[in-house]
Amino acid sequence: MLHSRKVAIFGSTGSIGTNTLAVAEALSHLDVFAISGHSNLKALEAAAQKFQPTHVITTDEQASTANFDFGSSQLHQGAEALNRLAADPEVDVVVAAIVGCAGLPSTWAAINAGKTVALANKEALVVAGSLLIPLAQKSGALVLPVDSEHSAIFQAARGGSKREIRRVILTASGGSLRNHSREEMKSVSVEQALAHPTWKMGPKITIDSATMMNKALEIIEARWLFDLRPDQIEVVIHPQSIIHSMVEFCDGSVIAQMSPPDMKLPIQYALTYPDRMEGPAKQMDFSTAMSLDFEPADLERFPALQLGFEVAERGGTSGAVLNAANEVAVDEFLKGGMAITDIAEHCRRLLEQHEYLAEPTLEQLMAADQWARQEMSKWKPA
Ligand code: NDP
Ligand code: MG
Repeated sequence: MLHSRKVAIFGSTGSIGTNTLAVAEALSHLDVFAISGHSNLKALEAAAQKFQPTHVITTDEQASTANFDFGSSQLHQGAEALNRLAADPEVDVVVAAIVGCAGLPSTWAAINAGKTVALANKEALVVAGSLLIPLAQKSGALVLPVDSEHSAIFQAARGGSKREIRRVILTASGGSLRNHSREEMKSVSVEQALAHPTWKMGPKITIDSATMMNKALEIIEARWLFDLRPDQIEVVIHPQSIIHSMVEFCDGSVIAQMSPPDMKLPIQYALTYPDRMEGPAKQMDFSTAMSLDFEPADLERFPALQLGFEVAERGGTSGAVLNAANEVAVDEFLKGGMAITDIAEHCRRLLEQHEYLAEPTLEQLMAADQWARQEMSKWKPA
């Protein structure tokens, strides 16, 4: 029997957030202590009534809470409240499930407070991994991956010691455009790009999967989480999304982690670690025939992937620029203005133009983020 854990879920109204609530509902030792939402106050209200958390945070100050009933929960407005609650002595685990760089301040606050952080918000590490990982070492925070690939690596790595790891192999489904030629990609619609074959996720990461920018961000995420050299990270296309990633040890043994594509498992593992418990995640079914395929990743059709390797190697301010340029470009694509193939091109252009700093402070990273957003805002649909 595990001790009760008080959980703060930042981004509780999103895809990871609602899967986290489903895990909390199934596991009696998890106590939903705080939840945040941004624009979807209807979902936040429903979760508040169901889980009766002590605190409810709405981060979008423009969104009126007047017509919502958050029951007996204490209501906080504004993103600052996340930082305060991240450091609340009652909180055991912070689930960082806000999308994009908007999740960085509260992730920073939770790490700074020495909490266990179940990290879905990979963008925080892409932007500021060079500062967040040393911060965690200083504060004693435990950063546990929620991203399925990194959870798989984390689980498989328990099969040996850190110095025995030769490389990690990140698997990628290939997203909705896996079989498209570069020419065909130029005219794909938002609907086509959002139709992910194996995972049901929020819109930003679904577009990142279509461009394979998601895998680029994951290369950088893996580099920081597991203290790897970029040349120790490989990517392989695995369309079924059953093997979530692999660790190769120095003797050539490769340990893979398998489960159906269901985020409830990696979320739960981060919430019960170092233990395992029965939970709501789907189970493997070996009673019907199934095959697992692998193919090399195509860096020419998916130039975003190449950017991931380059930025992992270069570090400094380049992660902040890549992430910000990508966030704005994905938004533009979703609004219908930009071709999906332009996303990686804008990212490369800004990476080449920006004033690179090798060892930036947080302020300098935020300035690089702002610069990239401003540069991108000059872009107008033709
Ligand atoms: P969603 O878009 O489904 O959810 C995003 C969440 O963040 C929502 O709760 C949203 O609130 C909130 N939010 C949006 N903008 C802001 C803001 N400016 N300030 C505060 N909160 C905000 O995204 P996902 O759940 O898919 O992804 C969340 C994170 O997890 C991302 O970093 C993603 O890369 C990562 N991840 C997701 C996976 C998945 O399976 N979905 C897999 C692996 C990683 P509201 O909806 O109320 O506006
Ligand atoms: Mg992933």
